[in-house]
Amino acid sequence: MTFSVSDIVRARQVLRSKADATPLVPSPYMSRVCGQDFWLKLENMQPIGAFKLRGAMNAVANLPSDTKGVTCCSTGNHGRGVAYAAAKRGMRAVICMSNMVPQAKVDGIKALGAEVAIVGSSQDDALVEAQRLVADEGLVEISPFDDPYVIAGQGTIGLEVLEARPDLETLLVPLSGGGLAAGVAVAAKALNPNVRVIGITMDRGAAMHASIAAGHPVEVEEVASLADSLGGGIGMDNKLSFALCRDYLDATVLVSEEEIRDAMQVLFFEDRLVAEGGSVVGLAAMLAGKLPKPQGSVATIITGRNLDMAIFAKLVSGQDIQIGDLTLKGKSYGA
Ligand SMILES: *Cc1c(COP(=O)(O)O)cnc(C)c1O
Repeated sequence: MTFSVSDIVRARQVLRSKADATPLVPSPYMSRVCGQDFWLKLENMQPIGAFKLRGAMNAVANLPSDTKGVTCCSTGNHGRGVAYAAAKRGMRAVICMSNMVPQAKVDGIKALGAEVAIVGSSQDDALVEAQRLVADEGLVEISPFDDPYVIAGQGTIGLEVLEARPDLETLLVPLSGGGLAAGVAVAAKALNPNVRVIGITMDRGAAMHASIAAGHPVEVEEVASLADSLGGGIGMDNKLSFALCRDYLDATVLVSEEEIRDAMQVLFFEDRLVAEGGSVVGLAAMLAGKLPKPQGSVATIITGRNLDMAIFAKLVSGQDIQIGDLTLKGKSYGA
């Protein structure tokens, strides 16, 4: 399978005025922390509250008009993107998710008119159901990350960021299945070959990080995380996102649940933004001193805002929160 920046440029035409042009805003606090301009690309402001609209819209737009319907497995946001894109085209959508997906995300998908199937306790279980729907009902499966149209759609973020800041030194990208990081890295490096693109993920079940280290896709155990959007494997038969992340990312960095919690508080109290755990890992890595000191401007993608507000309220008020079998100790901001 081949993939290049021309796929991303074509995706941009498809997405124009549907899922593009989110703001890129400065973070004065983070700029002080790292001593360089620090920018936030606000994908949390997409109509579905996450960037996944871009890839889903591009994939659905490229399907033939006699398509019976679409299906996918999802940790929530891809399903929401596919549901939204299918509704716009008047297509049936069945979104398969595990019982690890927060209720707020399930509700958001149902509200868009899609059918929801909750199966098993991992992304792999949900994928089996999506594949059954393909075989039995003739639906088309849209992978959350390992699909050239999806990767191209996510990559349009890289074009937007580098066009706005051509001299960017470092771009910090939340990393799970790697569709976002792959597309963004290809786009960003096409516009500025010197930009460093770093994939960041949680240390609980970091499938792409472990796979790059091993030199081939490996399975990791899926455990609950504050960054629920970053859960799941990369597929043992990964066709595209693994090779692109391996070849285009300058590094991958891991952050802990405590570091994710602290970054969500920083974004809320300093930048007044509500964002989900998976979207703050770039800030978390910088705040935790896990990145080299930047010599030029830095940007990160605030990938989504779809979280359970009751848990968020606890988190920002310094109360303990339960994440699967882990109790994450509360911490008051600034204390
Ligand atoms: C899906 C998702 C990611 C990671 O994207 P991948 O393409 O799977 O690497 C990051 N943040 C949020 C909020 C997401 O929904």
